[in-house]
Amino acid sequence: MPSFIPYGRQSINEADIQAVVEVLKSDFLTQGPAIERFEQAVAQYCGVKYAVAVSNATAALHMACLALELGPNDFLWTAPNTFVASANCGRYCGASVDFVDIDPATYVMDVSALETKLETAKSRGKALPKIVIPVQFAGQCVDMQRLAQLATVYGFSVVEDAAHGIGGQYRQKPIGSCEYSEMTVFSFHPVKIITTAEGGMITTNREDLYQKLLRLRSHGITRDECFMCNPSEGPWYYEQLELGLNYRMTDLQAALGHSQMQRLDDFVAKRHVLAQRYDALLAEVPVIRPQQHPDSYSALHLYPIQVSRPELRKPAFEVLRAANIGVNVHYMPVYLQPYYRDLGFAPGLCPNAEAYYQRAISLPLYYDLTEAEQDRVVETLKAALA
Ligand SMILES: *Cc1c(COP(=O)(O)O)cnc(C)c1O
Repeated sequence: MPSFIPYGRQSINEADIQAVVEVLKSDFLTQGPAIERFEQAVAQYCGVKYAVAVSNATAALHMACLALELGPNDFLWTAPNTFVASANCGRYCGASVDFVDIDPATYVMDVSALETKLETAKSRGKALPKIVIPVQFAGQCVDMQRLAQLATVYGFSVVEDAAHGIGGQYRQKPIGSCEYSEMTVFSFHPVKIITTAEGGMITTNREDLYQKLLRLRSHGITRDECFMCNPSEGPWYYEQLELGLNYRMTDLQAALGHSQMQRLDDFVAKRHVLAQRYDALLAEVPVIRPQQHPDSYSALHLYPIQVSRPELRKPAFEVLRAANIGVNVHYMPVYLQPYYRDLGFAPGLCPNAEAYYQRAISLPLYYDLTEAEQDRVVETLKAALA
């Protein structure tokens, strides 16, 4: 059997290992200096005022919704072509969730479809969203400028799910700059662009949200007298101001993240080289290759192709898996999951996302993927479709 090629995997070098070992030998394994160093590195890279490291991106999305005070009478809208976490964060707060279809060319939220849905909801007196979560699918950016205009008109907040997006740009600005959003969320799961094993980050330019996120990450507790309700009773004193969580990242993870940040541009550049090579190798193969929108410099978390007909997807997928190639599918529309079906969602809600899902296959794409491995993927795919 030829060696296994996953769809995504981390790249860990000696410097990364050394960074983690140094924390192990230090005084703090968690809540030490590595967290702040990592947060500062990300904030600086993204050109944003604040960054808050957390245990994973799911926690980050939950905290972002809590910070914006999403509650049981509210609505959160997102795109269906995403991991379930982009919608679940609304449910954690007891809010209702709804979905806006994707653009069939870029696979991210179609802002025209969003506008139509907003207009319809408004004219029929139905609930408008309190939060909209655009998902930077595969690293490609949503039309954020237009989305921000709609946010002003309709009065919702924007939280970017950029779990796929760190290292990418939108209109020459880094993803995470929060130029067009209240907050941006990153994931550092090993298949994503950089890794901390488990881990996530929230960026924002708003000081009030930053202070709130710091508290929510750690039980709702503050040790800063400026925020306390009562005078401090002594150096031991802290106050719990709200119901927070323990969503902290460890210093071991943060040290790994900080080390990986030094390699981020290299990671993304290599993904572009490999994606361009796929583009060339697949030029004559009857598949739809992912398009890059000119406004977006994608971090290229994924290289999703579409086969020409839905019936061809499963057999091609099975041939690739049988050849020890760990292709995957991103994503079944979230509302088709049994949990969301139980809430009343049914097929037909977002036709573009459903059509895309039926033909999609994500080919392996990661920093250490070799040209020989890439050739093997393409040859196997060609044979599967022949
Ligand atoms: C991976 C992912 C998440 C969740 O990230 P975790 O760090 O694993 O919690 C959220 N949204 C999207 C789009 C993702 O791909």
